[in-house]
Amino acid sequence: MGLLFPVQCFREPFGVYVTVSCIAPSSPEVGEFSYDISYKVDGQTVIYKSIEAKKILQVSFETPQDNFMLIPTSLLSGGDLLELNLCIKTNVLRPIPVTERRKKGGRMPVLDILDCPICFEALTIPIFQCENGHIVCSSCCPKLSNTCPSCTLPIGHIRNRAMETVVEPTFVRCRNAKIGCKKKFTYGKESEHEKKECNFSPCSCPVQGCDYTGSVDNLEHHYVSKHKKIWKDDWFTDGCSFTVLMNTGDKMCIAREASTRFLFPVQCFRKPYGVYVTVSCIAPPYPEAKRFSYDVSYTTEDGHTVVYKSPEVKRVLEVSYETPQDNFLFIPHTLLRGDESLELKLCVAELK
Ligand SMILES: [Zn+2]
Ligand SMILES: [Zn+2]
Ligand SMILES: [Zn+2]
Ligand SMILES: [Zn+2]
Repeated sequence: MGLLFPVQCFREPFGVYVTVSCIAPSSPEVGEFSYDISYKVDGQTVIYKSIEAKKILQVSFETPQDNFMLIPTSLLSGGDLLELNLCIKTNVLRPIPVTERRKKGGRMPVLDILDCPICFEALTIPIFQCENGHIVCSSCCPKLSNTCPSCTLPIGHIRNRAMETVVEPTFVRCRNAKIGCKKKFTYGKESEHEKKECNFSPCSCPVQGCDYTGSVDNLEHHYVSKHKKIWKDDWFTDGCSFTVLMNTGDKMCIAREASTRFLFPVQCFRKPYGVYVTVSCIAPPYPEAKRFSYDVSYTTEDGHTVVYKSPEVKRVLEVSYETPQDNFLFIPHTLLRGDESLELKLCVAELK
């Protein structure tokens, strides 16, 4: 490929600077070049071996700060003529030491060690090594014609099991793997998933005294098989209002939504000045799960009605037994019937 390599010299009072660059974009396809430059005078030689001809888009006419040979004035031959010997070489794929890469990319040192020294991609299994223990990733082996770039010994038939075991645990499973989540993450990415999107987050059985936890589907099975006798007609369908018959001493009854099979605990908290009623939904916080709003109303014996329209049914993994601070219907004591029965009308509708 026809590349231009400007050779520049800068004359300064104490000597001449010579530098070589390469006019090319810094993309890896261009390749890497190193150069050796030498100057001879009266049997003396000044040699500068550069590991890299800097790739630039435009030459600079400033005296270089690095990557140059300096020929001291005392070695110059008096005239303006400068005879140099230049050798530019294409760098073979060369593993860059970790310390050097760290400076270049500024990445985390631990993760750097887990990168292939040739392509800088994260090492994945299998990892190959030469007899001297140099490693490269499996996709680089054929590109290097199965020759170790560091020592030229054959590479690609000995696996580095120790390094493979280092790489392996950096892929972690979701904490909910044992209850069905198949997601795997690179270390550190899993907690975001567990908090915000895992649909296997363990849900706790809302029945007081029961310590069962499981995925949202398993919870529904558990609830039906263990506790269903508590309340029989507990199904409701999205958007239809239904009656919830409670006793203010009951504290909770549980409804199930027909399409999602999510459990909707209806809780009441009795206080001297009245009763709080709140509805929640036991489901993991994953984004695709349906969201619901609810309206709950209470009608007094003489026909007055108190209504609360909630913009959203709170999704929880576990019910709280604390008196709610928001998202509740409050029925003042004076509106309650004397017999402690509480007849509520509830309508849960999917949020579109
Ligand atoms: Zn590689
Ligand atoms: Zn080697
Ligand atoms: Zn998960
Ligand atoms: Zn239970």
